[in-house]
Amino acid sequence: MDDESFELELRKQLAYWQRVLYLQDWTVELRVVRQWEMTDNQTLAQCENHVQRKDAIIYVLNPHDLPGLSSRFLNGEECDYDISLVHELLHLHFAPFRNENDTTAHEQVINAISRGMVKVWRNKDNENGSDALCVPVMGKTEGYL
Ligand SMILES: [Zn+2]
Repeated sequence: MDDESFELELRKQLAYWQRVLYLQDWTVELRVVRQWEMTDNQTLAQCENHVQRKDAIIYVLNPHDLPGLSSRFLNGEECDYDISLVHELLHLHFAPFRNENDTTAHEQVINAISRGMVKVWRNKDNENGSDALCVPVMGKTEGYL
């Protein structure tokens, strides 16, 4: 998948999951960035949000930089763009409840929900054929490394 197709698929996914998660009232900008542009350089995506304004920027790691992540990371489901996108969107709902002194429980619940939602979405897609709102599963890292 080339860079342009990758970004196009991500934007389709963003629009789809914003509808599913009832986040259409948020303005969410998507930026595909290089590893050195991320404040956490061991993650696939991160989010800046302003709850009062209901706007956010989701930064997604350019697939060209996947080899720069640790091999342990690359073998995990953390390296899944679908789950990462849903994860960052869920942060918008959960932002008012975030305790900056201890984010562990916060991240764990968002991880669990995002994994579960993507799992259900993928199973539905497999059983019922393609849904007009769905784009093909972006998969993990095949085709990028
Ligand atoms: Zn998170």
